[in-house]
Amino acid sequence: MRGLCEICGKPAVARCRLCGRKVCEEHYDRSTGLCTICLSARCEICKERLAVGRCVICGRLVCDKCSVQLDNVRRICIHCLNSLFNGDISLARKVILKEKRFLKIPEAPKRVALKVLGSGKHER
Ligand SMILES: [Zn+2]
Ligand SMILES: [Zn+2]
Ligand SMILES: [Zn+2]
Ligand SMILES: [Zn+2]
Repeated sequence: MRGLCEICGKPAVARCRLCGRKVCEEHYDRSTGLCTICLSARCEICKERLAVGRCVICGRLVCDKCSVQLDNVRRICIHCLNSLFNGDISLARKVILKEKRFLKIPEAPKRVALKVLGSGKHER
């Protein structure tokens, strides 16, 4: 394998089977054949394809095949669609699009400024 890791620039050992990036040992996962970037961006349902977004209900990363688009930015995963709406996408759209709490696109939880409790010494 010639070339350099496209993530860190070290000598590459393999090519990611999903994105085709050349990656070094450190950035390659042999068991899946994926680079670390794809590994963390995989659909959490099929674990095969790259995710395109998050489910508005459960927040899982989902690919195109494992989710249904609700509007321009929101999607619902097939599990939530089946369990909550019996697979009825038009019903899901109707309910979710008017529910205020689903207006936001779920993201990884943001750290809200944490108050440091008892700012004294914790070390022994
Ligand atoms: Zn690397
Ligand atoms: Zn990759
Ligand atoms: Zn999937
Ligand atoms: Zn879901």
